[in-house]
Amino acid sequence: MIDVTDIQVMKPLLAQHGFHFSKAKGQNFLTARWVPERIAREAGVDRQTGVLEIGPGIGPLTQQLGLLAGKVCAVELDRRLQPILEQTLAGLDQVEVLWGDVLKMDVAALVGEKFQGLRPVACANLPYYITTPILTALLEAGCFQSVTVMVQKEVAQRIAAAPGTAEYGAFSVFCQYHAEPKRLFDVPPGCFLPQPKVTSAVVCLQVRQDRPWQILDEQVFFRAVRAAFAMRRKKLSNGLAAGFPELGKTGAAQVLENCGFPENVRGETLGIEEFAQIANEIVRRKR
Ligand code: SAM
Repeated sequence: MIDVTDIQVMKPLLAQHGFHFSKAKGQNFLTARWVPERIAREAGVDRQTGVLEIGPGIGPLTQQLGLLAGKVCAVELDRRLQPILEQTLAGLDQVEVLWGDVLKMDVAALVGEKFQGLRPVACANLPYYITTPILTALLEAGCFQSVTVMVQKEVAQRIAAAPGTAEYGAFSVFCQYHAEPKRLFDVPPGCFLPQPKVTSAVVCLQVRQDRPWQILDEQVFFRAVRAAFAMRRKKLSNGLAAGFPELGKTGAAQVLENCGFPENVRGETLGIEEFAQIANEIVRRKR
């Protein structure tokens, strides 16, 4: 198997195919073999696993996943990579490359079709310009046991942030509602070509099979979360009144009072359990 992370191999390979990196497609290719090896290992991939990879590039992670998994489907947007991937993935029979934009695919249907009898997981060195929409789609698809991805370090911090910290926001709540995130390790810019400006980090999201909260209406819950963080420097009652105009200022203050929160409580200090309480109280008032 060609070691595509070896710069002495990668550069002539790309030159041979006249390939130039596309910044618009978020192309930063791995040049340190320990990184894809460690991602595949820490994602717990084995022969019983079906892996959806997003953005194989020239295949460093795809190769490692292909050595361990029962089946790998790798979705790549950039068709120029086809002749290169044919070369670098040769002999890895359980790998299938699918061409297209992952954001336009029905991920749950794809997993159902391709990974029958296997434990579905997602794994990727994500294109950074669409990290949030891709992670949102993967978690909302509801079909993966885990999602292990490399993202910008700052995004990894937000995903795993605790209430009351500067990094904590609506996206932290969204990720932690669907999964239990764990930051695994950092990857410096020198491990990529071209080098990104920022440090990257690998994070593993173990998708929750059971959620420990009682939430009467998921839409109201996420509306309350967004309302709380839209005005994060202000009192939560103001944010709720803006996000739920039907409550009015008095109604919003009453909701918080009925939940037992102080009048000046700030949304950024609340965890999922507290947001669930607030959302459920709003639902009850509407009934
Ligand atoms: N996995 C390779 C590696 O680690 O070296 C490449 C990672 S690079 C950061 C991101 C890859 O995602 C690129 O190959 C890019 O072409 C691909 N990509 C970008 N947007 C995409 C999309 N919407 N759907 C699928 N792949 C996409």
